[in-house]
Amino acid sequence: MEFEIKRKDFAGRIGKLEIGRSVVETPTILPVINPNLQTINVDELKEMGAQIVITNSYIIFKNLELREKALSRGLHDLIGFDGPIMTDSGAYQLSVYGDVDVSSEEIIDFQKKIGSDIIVPLDIPTPQEASKEKARKDLEETNKRLRQIELDERNFAGPVQGSSFFDLRERSAKEVSDLGFDLYCIGGVVPMMESYDFSELAKSIVASKKNLSLKSPIHLFGAGHPMTFALATLLGCDLFDSAAYALFAKRDKYLTNRGTWDMNEMNYLPCSCPICQKNNINDLLENKTKLAKHNLYSTFEEIKTIKEAIRRGELFELAFERSRTHPELIDGLKIAMGKGKEFFEKITPRSKKNAFFYQGEESLYRPEIKRNLKRLLDMDFEEQTLLISQEDFEIEEKQGVAVFKVKPPFVFPKELKRTYPFGQSIIADLNNEKRLDISKKLIKDFLENEKDEFEEIKTVGEFRIKEIEKIEREEARDNYSKNHG
Ligand SMILES: [Zn+2]
Repeated sequence: MEFEIKRKDFAGRIGKLEIGRSVVETPTILPVINPNLQTINVDELKEMGAQIVITNSYIIFKNLELREKALSRGLHDLIGFDGPIMTDSGAYQLSVYGDVDVSSEEIIDFQKKIGSDIIVPLDIPTPQEASKEKARKDLEETNKRLRQIELDERNFAGPVQGSSFFDLRERSAKEVSDLGFDLYCIGGVVPMMESYDFSELAKSIVASKKNLSLKSPIHLFGAGHPMTFALATLLGCDLFDSAAYALFAKRDKYLTNRGTWDMNEMNYLPCSCPICQKNNINDLLENKTKLAKHNLYSTFEEIKTIKEAIRRGELFELAFERSRTHPELIDGLKIAMGKGKEFFEKITPRSKKNAFFYQGEESLYRPEIKRNLKRLLDMDFEEQTLLISQEDFEIEEKQGVAVFKVKPPFVFPKELKRTYPFGQSIIADLNNEKRLDISKKLIKDFLENEKDEFEEIKTVGEFRIKEIEKIEREEARDNYSKNHG
């Protein structure tokens, strides 16, 4: 398996994943294939956009007929899919029934024999309500099993567990990473998604991602709802799997990137996919395969929207828009930004083609803002005087005077006025107090470090900073009207 990163925005990326002779573009979703009863036929899945699929090797192993077919004809023939197939190992069954009658070695050996393209070891998923002690024990047992695997030329996925405990997730990610798997799966997050606990989900992703190789693809296991993809991609996940398209259809649920809607309460089909174009609500209610197809179209549409957002450098904007559809998603976004602050500052690209769009208070969590102070501190100033002015004041150039412009929340040297994100930003209502306060705090922090560099510090404009010398407002106004005729 080779993974090449083509484009990056925030921790999200567009990647080229080569598995054998197949090439998969990430981020993408692996539709879950049920080997017993497949809702949408595999050729159609391909037409709809599936480049890679996932199925459960434990279900195949347990069914004598399927097992024999898989062993004699191979997994690809059994499923009828010629692209890459990832196989899960029964961890889900373990989480639901508390036991599986196969050992870790047996199921890995079986996945090898049937020709799986990505082998998933049998890890132990900890229930969300479990104690930390239990989570720690499960994690240790999982990692013991992982250390026993002989990693060969085949592709192996390394599962990250640790339940809702941030430090255990971190430890798990570090230990799994040290073993050197081909890709990493963040597991045990389905209960968090089912209970809309996106804060826990975001924390789990951040704790894992921070400690995994940036060069490896990351699979968020069991995440199949399009409303979560933008946030998860923003935080660095590349692969998702979905059984949701079929499971939700069984319960008359219509998936959209804004949430799940009950078809029995709908009057319109707002989507333009081929199913919604040619059918009405009753058709979809009567034919669950049609509904499942809409759900999958909607899922792939969101993936394409995310890829375009990465390409345009607007992934944060998209994740932010999506987070507005559920209060828990906003919390998830904020918590992730706080928990992963340094990590995101480090990996977010420094410049972008498109402008920084200020979309409201959540934009204040962006790394560009956190990075502002560092950028100022990294610069050398030889001038004796520092003049701090609001952005739209025209300041005459003078020898020995460094000019900082304030475009709340940003503060930047005049010379950088055309660069990202300072000049290259679209921010309405520049007098917003909260953002002014951020700028003031930034100036204070800067001066605390660099005050001795300047003999004199002056401000012009609306803001006042107690600690520094001020020019009278009237004087500033005079200058301003002079400059603006
Ligand atoms: Zn549709």
